[in-house]
Amino acid sequence: MSEETQKLNQVNDSLKRKFKDRKLVFGSGFSTAKIVFVGEAPGQDEEKEGKPITGPKEKLLYQLLKTAGINKNKVYFTNVLKYYPSAFKAPTAKEIKSYVPFLKEELKTINPLLVVTLGNMALNGIGMRQPLDNVHGRTFNLGSYELLPTFHPDHALKDPQIKKILELDFIKLKKLLDSKEA
Ligand code: URA
Repeated sequence: MSEETQKLNQVNDSLKRKFKDRKLVFGSGFSTAKIVFVGEAPGQDEEKEGKPITGPKEKLLYQLLKTAGINKNKVYFTNVLKYYPSAFKAPTAKEIKSYVPFLKEELKTINPLLVVTLGNMALNGIGMRQPLDNVHGRTFNLGSYELLPTFHPDHALKDPQIKKILELDFIKLKKLLDSKEA
């Protein structure tokens, strides 16, 4: 087991200790991924499957990766919130905040070149105070990685215009990856 995988397991163990009563859904993918996708929170399907971003959302993201020419072995998926908050009860700002240090630890361990936030909550979870509409189209150097904020795949599945934007963002992502790996 790689050093990164061991460290990610430690992060997950500390999540289990802190949130004992929750059915947690941990990040999944390559522990040395070049790109980390950060979603908002697992849904019911993700809770059932025990991994983030499944079903049509996952299919769309893999399709976007393929079209942009990004190797799927270079990615890791996670969420800010690590449990399904239920369809009826939105998580409080305090709850979201309590998961952020674990996300930061995950990112520190994987040490990706690029982080892509999916939707507003993920963007805020990473520490950007502005709404996605204000910052979309820009990238941000956050020290060890470059941040590319984009829309949530659920949004793109409902709105073809957002899907088109997501396609263009993935092409941009590939260019950024190539420039960083050169
Ligand atoms: N939405 C997210 O942001 N993440 C998931 O894992 C599922 C739905």
